[in-house]
Amino acid sequence: MLAGFRVPTAAPPRSISALDIELIGWLRRLNTQLPLGLAARFTLFVAALLLVLTAAFVTINNSEAERAANSAFDEKTRQIVAVVESVAGDMPSDRRLSDLQVVLDRIAAASENTRYAYTVEVDAAGAARNSDPESVLRDPMASIAFLEAFSGGVASSRRGDGVLHIAVPVRSEGSLIGIARVGLSTRPIDEAISSAVSRNIVLALVFVMLALPLCAFFINYLTAPVRRLTLATRRLAAGNFSVPVPESRKDELGELSRSFVAMTKSIVDSFEAVQKLTMTDGASGLANREQMRRYTQSVLERGGKASLLYLDLDRIKRVNEALGIDVGDLAIIGVAERLKAVTAEALGMYLKQHPGDDCDVLMARLGGDEFGFVVSCNVNEECIGQYAARLITALARPFEISGHSVSVTGSIGIAMAPEDGMDFATLLRSAANALADAKSQGRATYKFSARDMKSYAYRRLMIEQELRTAVEKNQLEVYYQPQVALTDGAIVGAEALVRWRHPTRGLIGPTDFIAIAEESGILDTIGTHVLRESCRQASVWYMKGLTPKISVNVSASQCQQPSFASDVLKTIEEAGIPPSAIEIEITETVAMLDPRTTARDLAPLRAAGVRLAIDDFGTGYSNLASLTRMPVDVLKIDRSFVSECVRDGSARVVVATILTMTQNLGFETVAEGVESAAQREFLLAQGCTYAQGYLFGKPMPAAEFEELYSAKRRAGARDLISHIRRTAGTRAE
Ligand code: C2E
Ligand code: MG
Ligand code: MG
Repeated sequence: MLAGFRVPTAAPPRSISALDIELIGWLRRLNTQLPLGLAARFTLFVAALLLVLTAAFVTINNSEAERAANSAFDEKTRQIVAVVESVAGDMPSDRRLSDLQVVLDRIAAASENTRYAYTVEVDAAGAARNSDPESVLRDPMASIAFLEAFSGGVASSRRGDGVLHIAVPVRSEGSLIGIARVGLSTRPIDEAISSAVSRNIVLALVFVMLALPLCAFFINYLTAPVRRLTLATRRLAAGNFSVPVPESRKDELGELSRSFVAMTKSIVDSFEAVQKLTMTDGASGLANREQMRRYTQSVLERGGKASLLYLDLDRIKRVNEALGIDVGDLAIIGVAERLKAVTAEALGMYLKQHPGDDCDVLMARLGGDEFGFVVSCNVNEECIGQYAARLITALARPFEISGHSVSVTGSIGIAMAPEDGMDFATLLRSAANALADAKSQGRATYKFSARDMKSYAYRRLMIEQELRTAVEKNQLEVYYQPQVALTDGAIVGAEALVRWRHPTRGLIGPTDFIAIAEESGILDTIGTHVLRESCRQASVWYMKGLTPKISVNVSASQCQQPSFASDVLKTIEEAGIPPSAIEIEITETVAMLDPRTTARDLAPLRAAGVRLAIDDFGTGYSNLASLTRMPVDVLKIDRSFVSECVRDGSARVVVATILTMTQNLGFETVAEGVESAAQREFLLAQGCTYAQGYLFGKPMPAAEFEELYSAKRRAGARDLISHIRRTAGTRAE
């Protein structure tokens, strides 16, 4: 019995086809690539959802209206059929068809929608005795209803073109004598349906038009904190650290905002701490060498006059030896206090004698027992001499420290701009030479920088002349100093450092000629030579399968050339090496001269894959915002901090703070000047990634570096193989 009956089986799970995956991928791409904010996306999504729901609501309501209209019409049809059948079902022989017609006429009169109502008399063979109106016969549905009623013997109805044709068999004494036909117009149903549809559509439209702006408003309101947070991160990236974020909220956004604020604060604090520490001397609270350098440079750049006094305590070493370092330290602090007092007094007197003169003195501690003074106005030698003499005299009176009477003396070397140098480094060198002179001529005295044949200007002229031909004569050599990964000591690259092989004076280091080369405009030629030579050497190494990354120093004037980036890229291309094989080092002071322009000029190099490093980091920056905008990969922590990071608390804090900050900002770090295992351990513990220094190798000729690099690689490979063997052996056991 149930043989023909099929139990529906569950459809097999649809496997995800390639098309589905492609569609999902496309939707994801569309979502991530749409150039719209969160609020717009959310609004779009809600709008789409709203439209789909409204369309579904309209469709359901329309079909409901259609169903209601149809059932009302069906009911009416049933009533008409019932009335006709009650008369025509079995008419007594004494009744005539005309009586039925009376009923039909009444039906027609009752509703204006009745198109026709009459009876067709038929004989036993089914032939009509009277004819149908032409209009009825034109609709085939009318004939079908007629035939169904005739052959089936029961009432039939068929919906034709705008009319419902009803046919009811008429019987008398059991025999079929005719067919009653009634035609009802279906226009009321169509009208009811279309009015319901238009009402639903209008309602839906009104709803959507009201709901959409409301949704947009709420979404906008809800996503406002996210937008504020986004704006804050954008401003942070642009260096503005004071953007309000919705911190007080209790939800996830509040938590995110608080984390954001904490992160920003930690970066700003680190930055300020580094700035403070790098500009002052921790023990005496005086300015340090870097602050003195900046001050001098700014005075000179403004076109002002400056005199630099370099004071060295003569007998502090003996105090340390006799009474201990603690007493020596206290003596230095006492000296600093007395020198400060004398300076303030001398300046006060000078300003009293020269009212309106814009004069100031910056006092700095330059090292253990060395102090520097920069007088920033146009004073003559006599006046400066008097000041130096007062400083020396102030030290003559012994210091009472911890029950000891400590005597120290000081010698001073003096250099004046512009005669003895036009920049801080040169002035300091001239003052140091004068100081050496003062010491050699008996201590506790002062000396002006000599302006004779041995003077800086003369030496400068000689070096300048010889340097001009050094490149042509092939006297410049490039040395390579290894850079290692701190975790495993593997050599990852080298810094290219120029050397001058002078025919009579031997090998000269860059500190003795770079400043002069820069002042005389020769440094560009030297820089181009070093870059070309480094790229050539890198290409030779690449051919041999050796791939150390080479860092090349560039000067301020070099990277200010409009064609700098394209020249570098051309040189790299000519050497046939990948751009990532070269790293360009630019000192922090140079990078921060005009950070915006520097960032713009360096961008094409970074885009091409050349790595960029900020050299001597910690000595010259002034703006954290600019740093975050620089397109750089690496920060090289200056040697002055690294060399002191084990001994000196301030340097330790500077290095640790710089490392925390660089980790936060996502830079790699190279610590310069690592000379001891203790320094290496400290840097490693602080999360420093790479290092460079005498501990790993001094700058060396290319051949020597190649040997060291290859040997390290072989040793590394051997270690790896023995490690693999060891672990394989352990597993086998
Ligand atoms: P830099 O770029 O900071 O290079 C690092 C300097 O620190 C090198 O001095 C290196 O020999 C020295 N150094 C590295 N590790 C240690 C260490 O453990 N202890 C000590 N005491 N010193 C270490 P170098 O070769 O005398 O170069 C001095 C500066 O001259 C360089 O400083 C760089 O600013 C400049 N320079 C060198 N070559 C070029 C060049 O081709 N172009 C330009 N524009 N500047 C150059
Ligand atoms: Mg460098
Ligand atoms: Mg450096």
